This record gives sequence, C-alpha cells and structure tokens, in this order.
Amino acid sequence: MTITNGELADLGSPEIPAQRPSLVERPTPGPKRVLLAAPRGYCAGVDRAVVAVEKALENYGAPVYVRKQIVHNIHVVRTLEKAGAIFVDDVAEVPEGARVVFSAHGVSPAVEEGAAARGLETIDATCPLVTKVHREATRFAKQDYQILLIGHAGHEEVEGTMGHAPDRTILVNGPQEADTIEVADPEKLVWLSQTTLSVDETMETVRRLRARFPHLQDPPSDDICYATQNRQVAIKKVAAQAELVIVVGSANSSNTMRLVDVALENGAKAAYRVDYAHEIQQEWLDGVCTIGVTSGASVPEVLVRSVMDALAEAGYRDVSEVVTAEEDLVFSLPKELRTDPTGQRDSRALGGRVRG
Ligand code: SF4
Repeated sequence: MTITNGELADLGSPEIPAQRPSLVERPTPGPKRVLLAAPRGYCAGVDRAVVAVEKALENYGAPVYVRKQIVHNIHVVRTLEKAGAIFVDDVAEVPEGARVVFSAHGVSPAVEEGAAARGLETIDATCPLVTKVHREATRFAKQDYQILLIGHAGHEEVEGTMGHAPDRTILVNGPQEADTIEVADPEKLVWLSQTTLSVDETMETVRRLRARFPHLQDPPSDDICYATQNRQVAIKKVAAQAELVIVVGSANSSNTMRLVDVALENGAKAAYRVDYAHEIQQEWLDGVCTIGVTSGASVPEVLVRSVMDALAEAGYRDVSEVVTAEEDLVFSLPKELRTDPTGQRDSRALGGRVRG
C-alpha cells in the first residue's frame, strides 16, 4: 500500500459534509480566477504518520490506539476513527498491553516511559524532522547549553521537544517574549524552534534575542521544516496577486494558521481558513476577482478539490497553479511496520525520493 499526495486511498471515499447551499455566481469587476499554490497539502511526515495508522490497522486489526491526533486535521482523524483507530489524550487511557501509535508531533521521554510502564506496544510515527530537533535538544542539554525553544506554548510538538531537555529549555513564544526572557548564562545559549512556525516571525524573534544575547548560537540546520517553508514561499507569491486567500486546514494545525498569517502579511486583503468547502461564506467572494487557495501540511488533496469545485460553481473556473518548488521526499515507515506479520517487507520500508 502506498499513499501519496494525501489520498486516503485505502480508507474508502472520505465523506465530505455539504451542510450549506451552494455558492452562487455573482458579477465581479473583472475576470474571475483562482491561483492554486504549490506545494500545498501533505508533507512527507504527515503522509508517513497516516500510512502508519493505516498499516497498523491492516496488520493488527482494530482497534489501534493513537496518542493525540495523528496529524492536526479533523477530516483525517474522523476517517481513521471510522476505520478503527481510537484517539486518546494520554497513554493512561490505553488498555494495558495494547498497541499505541505516537503522533507525528512527537512525544517526550516521559510519555515513552508511561507507555512502557503499561506494557504497551508502541509505534512511533514522530516525523523524522521533529526527531531531529529532539536530538538537538538532548545534545545541547548534555553540553550544558541553555536552549531557547521558539514555539507556541501548549503545542504538542513543543511539549515533546521540551520534554527532552526539561531543565535546560526556556520557551520563547514569539518576538515579544524575546525582549523579556531571562537566561542563566548569556555566553552559552542556543536557539531551536518548532518545525511549523512562520519563517519571518521566527527570524524576527531570533534578531531580538541576538540583540540581547550576542553569543546566541544557531541550530546546526533549519528546524522549521522544508514543508512549512515551501508552503509559505508559495502562498507569498499567490497572496501578492490575490484579493482573497482560502487556506484549507484545521484550526489546531500550526502550519495551516501560519499560512493565513503569511497570506495577510504578503498582500492578500483577506484570508480565511476552512476545514471544508461548505464553510466558505458567499460574502467573502463579493467583488473578488482573484482567489488564492492553499492547504496545510496535514490536509488531504480531496479537501482542496472540493473547495475548487465550490469556487467553480461561483464562476471561478480559470485555475492556474503557482509552483515555487517540487517536493519528492518520502520517509520510510516506522521500524515496527516495515514488515507485515508474515515477515513480508513493505514497499515503503526504505523511503527515499520519488517524483510526486
Ligand atoms: Fe514533519 Fe514538517 Fe510535516 Fe511536521 S510539517 S510532519 S515537521 S515534514
């Protein structure tokens, strides 16, 4: 089974709710068109995590427990629930000895220990790019650095990363906090970040931190991941030409919400997030000639297609894709799923790069 580009192929046709009347075609001052950002939608880490739950269901049967939402998209979660996944907030809710998948956002060592104490079989679907940040945090903590972790308080990824160096990490929740945080030793500081932040805002936070702490060390490589960066670059180009931007994705998806922010900061007069096409309001389209469309890294393409269908009903049938990067990365499956119960190797066992 190989799933790419957000197709939940093996879960049947996802049911997409249509709870409002169709959009109607109204006159605009000029021709109507849609600029569709690319890349958009599923990243390699989300694809891997969703396939991991599907493979676990296929190999072991339902139910398969998943700690937290496997990825931050309500449609994906509902679809997997229908297939037999049970989402829990805490490993304490998983029956002893059962199987649990850790989400793409990663977990702290304390969560792993909690799972081990209950005798749970774990499948770690943490995105490898989040694991990279965990390793950086562990390494810098061992070297007695204080870590300034730029990220959003309460986000699962931030909780997981902080849990790898709880005594050495200070959370910096945006540029304002950079002006006020206190550190133990300004000579031995490194900054790391959540993978799904706004690149521009993070650079502003770092600029302000460095103004106060000139010895602040950079991470060994970008923590904001390729997918977050690529989607922001694409929507910047689209937003510069669009009066309205529609971002498909869920409210708890950090990278989705950053796409709304980035669109507004880069020329869009309005930008809205929707989970589903039926959430588009007729009045958003009043007098709008050019609409930009994109989607967060946890959004299946089928949801974007339904938004495009709704916009076509309203007369926006001229669609151009604005491509700013090609993505071809595929991550290997979690090690627990690289072979099926008969020992057969999965085609996704090794990952690599393919044409998307
Ligand atoms: Fe991994 Fe980036 Fe996707 Fe998060 S957004 S799952 S870090 S590739």
